[in-house]
Amino acid sequence: MSDFLNVEEIFGEDVFNDTVMKERLPKNVYKELRRVIEEGAELKLVVADVVANAMKDWAMEKGATHYTHWFQPLTGVTAEKHDSFISAPNASGKVLMEFSGKELIKGEPDASSFPSGGLRATFEARGYTAWDCTSPAFIKRSAAGATLCIPTAFCSYTGEALDRKTPLLKSMEAINTQALRILRLFGNTTSKRVTTSVGAEQEYFLVDRDKYLKRKDLIFTGRTLFGAMPPKGQELEDHYFGTIRERIGGFMKDINEELWKLGVSAKTQHNEVAPAQHELAPIYAEANLAVDQNQLTMEVMKRVANNHNMVCLLHEKPFDGVNGSGKHNNWSITTDDGINMLDPGKTPHENKQFLLVLVAIMAAVDKHADLLRESAASAGNDHRLGANEAPPAIISMFLGDQLEDVVEQLVASGDATSSLKAGKMKMGVSTLPDFRKDATDRNRTSPFAFTGNKFEFRSLGSSASVAGPNIVLNTIVAESFCEIADELEKAEDFELAVHDLVKKLAVEHQRIIFNGDGYSEAWVEVAEGRGLPNLKTMVDAIPALTTDKSIALFEKFHVFTRAELESRAEIQYEAYAKAINIEARTMIDVAGKQIIPAVIKATTQLADSLNIVKTACAEADVSAQSELLVQTSSLLAETKKALQKLSEVTAQAATKAEGKEQATYFKDEVIPAMAALRAPVDALEMIVDKDLWPMPSYGDLIFEV
Ligand code: ADP
Ligand code: MG
Repeated sequence: MSDFLNVEEIFGEDVFNDTVMKERLPKNVYKELRRVIEEGAELKLVVADVVANAMKDWAMEKGATHYTHWFQPLTGVTAEKHDSFISAPNASGKVLMEFSGKELIKGEPDASSFPSGGLRATFEARGYTAWDCTSPAFIKRSAAGATLCIPTAFCSYTGEALDRKTPLLKSMEAINTQALRILRLFGNTTSKRVTTSVGAEQEYFLVDRDKYLKRKDLIFTGRTLFGAMPPKGQELEDHYFGTIRERIGGFMKDINEELWKLGVSAKTQHNEVAPAQHELAPIYAEANLAVDQNQLTMEVMKRVANNHNMVCLLHEKPFDGVNGSGKHNNWSITTDDGINMLDPGKTPHENKQFLLVLVAIMAAVDKHADLLRESAASAGNDHRLGANEAPPAIISMFLGDQLEDVVEQLVASGDATSSLKAGKMKMGVSTLPDFRKDATDRNRTSPFAFTGNKFEFRSLGSSASVAGPNIVLNTIVAESFCEIADELEKAEDFELAVHDLVKKLAVEHQRIIFNGDGYSEAWVEVAEGRGLPNLKTMVDAIPALTTDKSIALFEKFHVFTRAELESRAEIQYEAYAKAINIEARTMIDVAGKQIIPAVIKATTQLADSLNIVKTACAEADVSAQSELLVQTSSLLAETKKALQKLSEVTAQAATKAEGKEQATYFKDEVIPAMAALRAPVDALEMIVDKDLWPMPSYGDLIFEV
């Protein structure tokens, strides 16, 4: 059994986790650190010194020579700056390996090159990273060797958050405080802490690296900007859950092993809907950890793919006309003693606490649908939302038959007296077991669906950090809980007050419930009638961040200040403009330097063939060559014109004011010009000699991995 992998043994071996801390830290230091982690107490420098030293020794045994504060600036990817453990050489020229508590707790990367959305002028370069001890340190291995990574939060000299972790931690605090108030009202005196749990299902594509390197669009933008559909697409539905091909299997085996070592509980893997598309889901973890682990997962995926001479595409829409990639965000609210506040139990209608939590979430999602939508906004995700492959841009909630029926009863009479029962599934074959069905079927078209004991937010794009939606979910639900607790804490008759409040909120917010087909045209109209926002693009969604409603919400719970929200909106506009600008310039480059020259060659060949054949035999029928020449030349002319136009509008973008104006210009002027260039090029790809076409086709990329 040479390739036996002892998963239990390797799991978490590169993580400075609780077991390692317990083993390596003096008892009192360990206890103090646990107190800091669990209760958020302040970490004293003397304690940090001991922890840092133990961490360094452990890391060095694992081969590490460097450490880094690992953080998540607003670029969307993680950042790190490596420092070695060496001290200054002493008089005899020797160095010691050192790592102090101060270095563990605080770092000082130059912040000026990270997006700040105007929060900080470039000359005010100072930024701080601070250790987030709720997420364990780990060893990252790469060609650069082994590095001790310390998860940190990142803020400016003046204290504004410049990352995603800080607001996430604050939102977790907010929901902890408010959810505990709800639990206490229902007589719970034992739970000490409430956290949100997150399981992020990661979709991705794998393509061959040699082919990838022949596509500048993939290299520069992560997606194809040209490409005709292959004769076979995903219509046979033979890829979804299909047998995993050997090359992909090799990748999956390695990725699991690497993730397990990093303590990421990679659990489920399968082929997705599109050819060359796959999914990986871990077992859910506390929101903060889940966010860090998802970032790590994306990083490791890219690296491992490379080892297999493949490239992992995390873009939301690598191929037009083929399903794109998303990242379902499964979310629940749980106590430290194991109560899931989203568990309805067998008879939800009798579970008053659950009903209250449910209507609280309905109220939150209804009131802040625009923010939830914004949290999934990216230039890449604009291709998916509302395009019949991912939920529509309209936010609604799917509850399933059982809960919808309960809510209907509440709305009708204020009382729910029964819960629909889940039936037994009869397989109809005596050797197959009968089993209990779930009380609810699935609805894949809903952005926010109840799935048994959790909600699944399905709008997020594959490349996004899961921090965004969880910051929003935690905060909006904290607000709902807070308003409810304010009212119930002063109620004279608690039972009656709960009863009335559940009914009131169910009635007020039932418009957010939709159990039907979210892809249908009819829903767009119905939603409009209900007054639900339909923010079709990222540019339409960004203003949600800075409405009075949003500022009041985030300031009340100390998650974002107004200045932070305004800066984040700026960063979003900039990110959008930059993404489209790069795409447009890549199209201009590829069309001008690769496609037009190739097509000119093709027309020359056709013309030559026409002449040669005619000269050889005057009676020969050259109508095929002639028609092709006409067709190719006219598409070539159209391409040239569209290229000219795209170059002009793209150049114009620089004259627009940065921010909303420029982003809007890219959406309204540049994107249509890109589409106008793509159309004739894709038509040309279908008629030009494959040997002349300057890049691998969709067929080559997605069917021949
Ligand atoms: P489904 O197939 O319904 O999407 P899975 O059981 O496959 O559900 O889970 C999908 C993801 O949801 C996994 O990452 C899983 O760990 C996570 N998950 C399961 N239960 C919870 C929960 N209570 N809270 C948060 N995430 C959860
Ligand atoms: Mg799912």
